[in-house]
Amino acid sequence: MKFLITGGAGFIGSYLSEKLLAEGHEVIALDNLSTGTQENIAHLTKNSSFHFVEGSVMDKEILSKSAEGVQGIFHLAAAVGVKFVMENLVTSMEVNVKGTENVLETALKLGGIKVLITSSSEVYGKSSKKRFHEEDDLIIGPPHKFRWSYATSKLLDEFLALSYHAERNLPVTIVRLFNICGPRQTGRYGMVIPRFVRQALKGEPITVYGSGKQLRSFAHVKDAVEGMAKLMLEPAAEGKIFNLGNPRGITIEELAIKIKEMTRSKSPITYLPYEEVYGPHFEDLMYRVPDINHAKAVIGFMPRYHLEDILTETVEYFRSK
Ligand code: UDP
Repeated sequence: MKFLITGGAGFIGSYLSEKLLAEGHEVIALDNLSTGTQENIAHLTKNSSFHFVEGSVMDKEILSKSAEGVQGIFHLAAAVGVKFVMENLVTSMEVNVKGTENVLETALKLGGIKVLITSSSEVYGKSSKKRFHEEDDLIIGPPHKFRWSYATSKLLDEFLALSYHAERNLPVTIVRLFNICGPRQTGRYGMVIPRFVRQALKGEPITVYGSGKQLRSFAHVKDAVEGMAKLMLEPAAEGKIFNLGNPRGITIEELAIKIKEMTRSKSPITYLPYEEVYGPHFEDLMYRVPDINHAKAVIGFMPRYHLEDILTETVEYFRSK
C-alpha cells in the first residue's frame, strides 16, 4: 500500500516511515522541516519506496499532490513539545487546527482516504484519575493559562475528525499519544527524557520542574508506531479514539534519580519552579497514565518495551552523538 505521513521527518514520523517501509509499503513523507529534520530520515532516503516532500500541511496544493493515490494518511504534522508551544502560541494553534482541517478536507476531496489523526494525552488536562480512559470527561484549564491552548487545539482536531466521520462518512481514527520517547527525540522542545539524559551525561544539573511528584508514563516510539500502523488497517477502529502509551507510571523525581544512577552521573538534581521555566501562565498536570484496554481489545495492543529499554537506548544514542 501507499501512505502519506504528514510530519514524516519528525521523531515519531521517521519511526513510522521505517515501520511501514519494513512492511513493504510505499511512504510519502511530507514535512516542512520546522521541527522535523533531514537527519531523522537520512537512513531512509536510499529506499526507493520512500519519498520525501518538503512542504507544509498549511499548503493545500502540496498536500493534495502528496496525497494523490495513497490509501491512508497518517497526520502527525503539528506543534511539538510544551516548550515549543509556550514560545509559539499562535503558530501552534494555527498549524494544529488549520493543518488538520486541510488534511481532512483533502482526504474527503480525494475520494475518502482513511485518516489517522494523532491527538495527545494533553486533552485529559487536569484529571486526577489513576488511569485515563477515552470516554472520560476532560478537565482543561482557563485560556489565560496558555499551556491549555495545545490541548484545546488537539481536542478541536478530534471533534473535527469525528464530525467528518459522522456527517461525511470519512474513515478516521484518532490516537491519543502518551509521552512517546526513544532515540532521536530531542530535548530542544522540552521533552524530559532527552533533557535529563543529556544533562546527566554532561555532568550538568538535572532540572526537575515543580515538586517532581508529577506522574508520567513513557512509551517507546516503536510500540506507538506499531499501534498506529495496526489501527490504520483496522476497519473496527474507524470513528473511534484510542489511547496509545505504556500504563506504567513514574514520578519525574524518580525518573531523574534513575537516569542519574544509570549514567553514573555526578550531576546534582535541582528543582526549578515552573514560573521560572515557562513564565507565570503555566500550569502542569500531576497525573498522566493511560488505560490501554480499548487498543488492546481492537488491535491487541501491548507495549513490548519497558522504561529501562527506552533509557538504555537513549543513553546509548546521546553517548554516540
Ligand atoms: N520536566 C522536568 N524537567 C525538564 C523537562 C520536563 O521536570 O527539563 C517535567 C515537566 O514539567 C513534566 C514532565 O517532566 O511534568 C514531562 O515533561 P514533557 O515536556 O516531556 O512532557 P509533558 O508530559 O509535559 O507533555
